[in-house]
Amino acid sequence: MSDEDDTLDPEVERDLMLRAVTERERRSSYSETSRWRPPAIVGQWRCRNPKCQRMVDVPEDGMTALAAWNVILRKRGEEPLDHDQVMFCTTCRPLYVKVEAERRRARNARIGTALRELRETDDPSRQAELLDELEELGHEDVDGLRRSLSERARSASARRPRREL
Ligand SMILES: [Zn+2]
Repeated sequence: MSDEDDTLDPEVERDLMLRAVTERERRSSYSETSRWRPPAIVGQWRCRNPKCQRMVDVPEDGMTALAAWNVILRKRGEEPLDHDQVMFCTTCRPLYVKVEAERRRARNARIGTALRELRETDDPSRQAELLDELEELGHEDVDGLRRSLSERARSASARRPRREL
């Protein structure tokens, strides 16, 4: 129903884009045995790691991906990405991947905890807090959770015996 992209924070978007570029790079090196051709390098950007800033070769589709993302960001009225915020050099990328995996694990653990509490609590204000938290953590179906909570509340009140007059 809602545009899920709106729940992505710029950091996530940046990561998605990076992943898309990395994936393409990986795929082009897979075909190495059959008919490998070097990706067209169209420029150099600085490594995204502010402490590194080494120049990184930019394949043509990296350029295209950045342009595509910036069109989306501008449409949403957000700051376009600078090209120095996008690529990692070969030294920094594995570090980033590791940190990112840890961050994702921590995030998933927090989502799990919030979902468990949401299942157990009947306090509407606590439910609202938990839903906000889940939204912030990037849970993909907060609307669905909201719906099932209100259904649960409705069926709970239907079960409650009515007082006869
Ligand atoms: Zn670097």
